[in-house]
Amino acid sequence: MIINFLGNLKELLRPQFRGLESIEYELSRAASVKDIVEALGVPHTEVGRLTVDGLEISFATLGGKNDRLDVYPLCPPVDVLTPTMLRPEPLVAITFAVDVNVGKLATLLRMAGFDTFYQNYISDPELLEVAVREKRILLSKDKDLLKRKEVVFGHLVREIYPEKQFAEIVHLFGLKKQFQPLSRCLRCNGILRPVGKRQIIEQLEPLTKKYYDSFRQCQGCRNVYWPGSHRDKMLLVLNRYGDYQDLA
Ligand SMILES: [Zn+2]
Repeated sequence: MIINFLGNLKELLRPQFRGLESIEYELSRAASVKDIVEALGVPHTEVGRLTVDGLEISFATLGGKNDRLDVYPLCPPVDVLTPTMLRPEPLVAITFAVDVNVGKLATLLRMAGFDTFYQNYISDPELLEVAVREKRILLSKDKDLLKRKEVVFGHLVREIYPEKQFAEIVHLFGLKKQFQPLSRCLRCNGILRPVGKRQIIEQLEPLTKKYYDSFRQCQGCRNVYWPGSHRDKMLLVLNRYGDYQDLA
């Protein structure tokens, strides 16, 4: 069969296939198009659309000897809440599970208010299990992890620097207008709620006690947040990529 990879999928191909206009692939046994595409190097999570002779097909379709298969990349903004031929069961909400190889991205997503699962020390099978069970978009730099068939929604993070990775995700999933800054705990992903100063005064350092009056507390780990230089720095980053109402 003849396979044609489009757009940014070309750079994910195994080195021997890069730079080719199209790939002649010899089918030695019955294989799904998902397996064929991945054998050439591209995780299925990066594919937005598959067609044979212009007709849209699913991942499970078997490759045919005389087929001409076109493999399209994801086209931003990717709407994970609407069914598609490749992903007929959409997600109910945009939430993430972040691999340790892009850990700093998790903090930035939480900063912007996105529900983000992240654990420092976690094995691949455990991370996969959480992403599948909680229906989260798996973000990783590990191609093999993203090739696992249990993964439905995921993304191979291409950028190297965390802030650029964050911009990559915001652009890909069209999240610009969905920021809810300072609504989530950076440590544990818990929800932050306003809390009276009196209730948490024991936890405050003397200077914080003196200069600040407005506080939020994590409903999970009880960590307390207040305005200050750290918060201003965070908002600078978020302002660069998001489009949200100014915070009081
Ligand atoms: Zn917390």
